[in-house]
Amino acid sequence: MITVKSLEEIELMRESALIVSKTLGMLAKEVKPGVSTLHLDALAEAFIRDHGATPGFLGLYDFPNTLCMSPNAQVVHGIPNKEPLVEGDIISIDCGALKNGFYGDHAYTFEVGEVAAETKKLLEVTKQSLYEGIRQFKAGNRVGDVGYAIQKYAEDHGYGVVRELVGHGLGRVMHEDPEMPNYGKRGRGKKFTEGMVVAIEPMINMGTKSINQLNDGWTILTKDGKPSAHFEHDVALVNGKPELLSTFKYIDEALGIVTNAEDEFRQNP
Ligand code: MG
Ligand code: MG
Repeated sequence: MITVKSLEEIELMRESALIVSKTLGMLAKEVKPGVSTLHLDALAEAFIRDHGATPGFLGLYDFPNTLCMSPNAQVVHGIPNKEPLVEGDIISIDCGALKNGFYGDHAYTFEVGEVAAETKKLLEVTKQSLYEGIRQFKAGNRVGDVGYAIQKYAEDHGYGVVRELVGHGLGRVMHEDPEMPNYGKRGRGKKFTEGMVVAIEPMINMGTKSINQLNDGWTILTKDGKPSAHFEHDVALVNGKPELLSTFKYIDEALGIVTNAEDEFRQNP
């Protein structure tokens, strides 16, 4: 069942989403060679609690940590550990926060020091595929329109689109209806209606779309061992148009990235 939100609820959800955005912005300055994912996890938990929220993933389905940390060939759901990050790694950080009864949930894939040009390209294309998908989250469109846009953009660049893990509705529950696959057919699936809030999150592999799961019961990784990238935003449908609740601007500020990519998704800049 799809739960639509009132404008008041959407503003509360923006608050939760922005706590995650700020957490990722804080982490952007800390991601570097020699730092462990477990250290970053502790920083994130303290930061979220300092902002009057609770970590959204900790304990959810018994997940043991605040962050899902998925380096290199790991796609999503990696568990933080003491192993230091190494120059040239990429690390997907997925973070959730719960405040006022609503969840925020978003993710960014960071570069650790200097990364290979082909890896940088994977990150750029995956981030862009997210925007391609968000653009289709509008009145009259359906779930398949978002999936189609992401899949087309990623596959046109020769990448594999993970099938087994998908985006989702978001609200008082972390994973609400509808499921939001990163692949699909135009005009198919559930129709978008005013007040829907979804997490759109392409998981794009440099090579094959096929994945394996580690026997820790969580970690998803690419079957061919090639890198995978993951970017996620929380988006509400307001006035028939996509309204971004989360933002990468804190990350951009930390990393010196200048972009106006999010501007088209903000109705009150
Ligand atoms: Mg997430
Ligand atoms: Mg999500």
